[in-house]
Formats: sequence, C-alpha cells, structure tokens
Amino acid sequence: MGDWQAATGQGSDVVRAWDRVRANLRESAGVRVFEQWLKPIELVDGEAGDTVRLALPSAFVTNWVRNHYADRLLMEFRAILPAVRSITIETRTARPAPAVLAVDPVAPAPAVVEPSPKPAAAVVLPAVERPVLDARFTFERFVVDSSNRVAFNAARAMAEPGAPRFSPLFLHSGTGLGKTHLMHAIGHSVIAANPGARVLAMSAERFMFDFVQAMRNRDTFTFKSRLRSADLLLVDDLQFIAGKDSTQEEFFHTVNEVMAAGKRLVISADRCPQALDGVEARIVSRMGAGLVADIKSPEAALRRAILDRKMVDLPDAQVPEDVLDLLANRIHASIRELEGALNRLVAYAQLSGERVDLGFAQATLGDSLRGAQRRVTIDEIQKLVSAHFELKPLDLISARRSRAIARPRQIAMYLAKRLTTRSLPEIGRKFGGRDHSTVIHAVRKIEELRDQDREIDGAVRVLMRELEG
Ligand code: ADP
Ligand code: MG
Repeated sequence: MGDWQAATGQGSDVVRAWDRVRANLRESAGVRVFEQWLKPIELVDGEAGDTVRLALPSAFVTNWVRNHYADRLLMEFRAILPAVRSITIETRTARPAPAVLAVDPVAPAPAVVEPSPKPAAAVVLPAVERPVLDARFTFERFVVDSSNRVAFNAARAMAEPGAPRFSPLFLHSGTGLGKTHLMHAIGHSVIAANPGARVLAMSAERFMFDFVQAMRNRDTFTFKSRLRSADLLLVDDLQFIAGKDSTQEEFFHTVNEVMAAGKRLVISADRCPQALDGVEARIVSRMGAGLVADIKSPEAALRRAILDRKMVDLPDAQVPEDVLDLLANRIHASIRELEGALNRLVAYAQLSGERVDLGFAQATLGDSLRGAQRRVTIDEIQKLVSAHFELKPLDLISARRSRAIARPRQIAMYLAKRLTTRSLPEIGRKFGGRDHSTVIHAVRKIEELRDQDREIDGAVRVLMRELEG
C-alpha cells in the first residue's frame, strides 16, 4: 500500500524496528520465554504492504507465539512504526503459507468504515481489519463433555444465522480451557454461513491499545465506527481492561451500541462478570445480561479424549495409548499445557528419530510430568481450609451445620473433588462419613457460588493456588 511506502521509506525501517522490538521483548518477556520462543522469530522481507510478516521454524512454535504474543508483537511494532497495521506469523516450511493465520474472506478493503471527517491521509486506519482467527479453532475440533457443554452450545447458538437469541455471550474459565477456541469457532462458523459477514476479533488489551491510540490521534470516530460496523465482535480476555477507567467506559458504550444494533457480541474473561475487580456495577450487569457460561476444569476422560482428537491432526505421529494415558492423567492444569506436552513429545521424537514410548515421554517431559504429579491430599485440604477460615480441622469433619462451618466444609469438599483423584464416596468418608450425594451437592453449590460471590470465588482461588503451588 502506498502510504506504507511513504511512511517507512524502505524495508530497512522495518528491519530496524524489528531489532528494537526484539530488544524490548527480550527485556519484558524474560530470558526463558525469549530464548525458547521468541528468539527463533525471523522477519520475512518487508515488501508486504502495511503488514509485517514474521516466520518461525515449526508449526508448534508458530502456534505458541501466535497464541501468546501476536497482539504484543503488533503493539511493539506499532509503538515504533505506527504505519504497521497488522502482522502475520507463519511457519517456514516447504509448503508455502499453510500456517498463515489471517483468515481472509471477510477482509474488506481498508475503507470499510464510515466516511471519516478527516482527510484520508491523516486517518490512522485500524491495525487489523480482518479477523485473525486461528484456523484450528473450529467447532469440529472442540471436544465436548459436561465440563464445557453449556459453553459449547451457547457458542453454537451464537453462530446461528438470524437475529441472535441472546447477546452478549460471556464465556469464562481458567486459562487454557478453550475460551479463545470457542470464540474463533463462532467466527469461522459465521463466516462460513455468510462470507460477507464482518467479524472482528480482538483481545481486550488490544481494544485498550487501539482506543488509547485513537484518543492520541484525536480520532476515536474511526475506532468506534469500526467496532460498530462488526456483525460479530469477539473481545477476548476482558480481565485486562478491568480497572482501566476510560477504556472501560468506552468499552461499555461500545457494548451498548453493538447490542442496540442487534449485533453479536462475545466476551471472554478468566472469571465471571461479578468477579471482575474494578469494573463498574452497570457494566457488570450489562455483560451479564445475555448468557454467562463457564468452562470447568476438564476431568481425565475429557483430557484423554482431547488427546485422541489431537492425534487425528497428527497423522504422521506414533504415540502409543499408554503414553496418551500418562499425559491425560498427569497434566491437569490446562488443555493448553496438555496439548503443549503432546506437541513437544511429537516434535522431539521427529527431531531425534526416536520412538515415543513411556521412557521417552518421561525423559522428554520429566519436569512437567513430575510437577503435575504432586498429589494434594484431602488431609492437606482440610488443614488449609480450616486454617483459612479459622476453624479447627475437626470442625470440617463434625456434624455441625452452622453456616460458618458448613460453607468451608463445602469448599473443602469441592477442592477435594477438583484437586484429588478420590471418588465421591471416598471424599464423603473423609468428611465424617458423609454420603456421596452430600459431596455432589457441595461441589455444585460451590460452583454456583463461585459465579455469584466474589468473596467465595476469591477464597477458592487462593486456596487452590496454595494447594497446587
Ligand atoms: P483459553 O482461551 O481459555 O485460555 P484456548 O481456547 O486458547 O484457552 O485453549 C487452549 C488450547 O486448548 C487450544 O489449543 C485449544 O484448541 C485447546 N482446547 C481447549 N479446550 C478444548 C476442547 N474442549 N477440545 C479440544 N481442544 C481444546
Ligand atoms: Mg484465550
């Protein structure tokens, strides 16, 4: 694009910018992340209009960098070269381009927005005009069970043609459990049904960055009309704008406008709307006005099923069942970690020419398997929970039913279910010989309360961190 040339002169500006971006990343990301993931990034020659093309040596690192650093890279570039409008992160392979992320069918000409009151040359065009949807994040590739069914069905409903049945859809879960996957799946599905649909996907961080940038350029008009023009707006990781007052205010107006226009809005966050600290009550209630769905931690069976599903996409890889069982049993923190472990195994096996078996898996993944192996016991849980609520450990086992004791007891049961492999009857026995239905009730109750009660949710988080840490 002409203005890119004008703005940057030659590609050497991009090269210089890239040096600085790298230096900044080395500082901010930490040595480990930088060495492992960011250092291998290469700049593909600069003749790609206003897009900076980056490449990595394998699909595995490409995905990782894309998931964790795409927005960040763009922000860093734009801080140095404002004319950069998007980046692509590709895999350098023999076959050209399969891993390029930008899904293009919707890509409208940059002039999609309503006519700007400013002369065209002065308009800082939005940095990403096309949705950067991860091609792997489709509904077909999402494995469903009771932990994520509600979120999955809600996402499907959001993608149905016609007027949306609800809006916004608010998805929340811990990290690496499928929120972004579902959001992108909605995007793919909407585009498949209607190739002309305008789909806009952005992280909340990105929203904030663009908004601040627009304010600085005294052109929030373009920013707003771009958002308003989206048929589907996906805002990921909302927790990042919590507490940022002016951005939050802008976000609120955007939400209202998008919804007033009958458009689809999907928001994700790492916690439920009520638990977002520093977010005003009216915003919370607006976001909770559609459908709020959470994704719970996956049980071993789902983790195993996801590995099976992943193997379908790795037809060349040979990973025996017992190794998959091992991964599914040992890695429970998140699906992202689970996938990461599988990818690492397969990549190392290919590089070393070795066969994947239990020994190879243990040798390759040693740390992550051991780390995850740390078993939390019910005794530890009881000790910690009673200390936290200033009770005697025996209180949790006693028959006493006062709220001050019953609630912590339910939390302890919930943690026992979540963090240990004990069965419901076993957990019941450990809590003074209670019935397994009491345990089920406790687990459901705490799940429900975590959605509604910020204090309880906070306490559970603190306890989990201590137990798992
Ligand atoms: P989040 O946005 O909640 O942090 P992601 O959506 O990025 O998590 O998911 C992390 C990884 O796990 C992605 O590669 C995603 O495809 C995968 N994943 C998560 N849940 C599922 C699932 N139910 N089935 C298949 N893959 C999943
Ligand atoms: Mg995500």
